[in-house]
Amino acid sequence: MPRELACKKCKAITVGKVCPICNSTDLSSDWSGIVIVFDSKTSLIAKTLEISIPHKYALKVS
Ligand SMILES: [Zn+2]
Repeated sequence: MPRELACKKCKAITVGKVCPICNSTDLSSDWSGIVIVFDSKTSLIAKTLEISIPHKYALKVS
């Protein structure tokens, strides 16, 4: 598993130190589950997780 971090605010997964979605630096290495959203307009998962930008997201971030 690569050392990816998940944003605590929007759950976006990133390898950088800043969240590419909400620009938060509040990232956690303790996350599980991956959801990849390609089209946030038609994706039911995106609606459920309140995701509006296509990206890779973690299901659980702690
Ligand atoms: Zn974020």
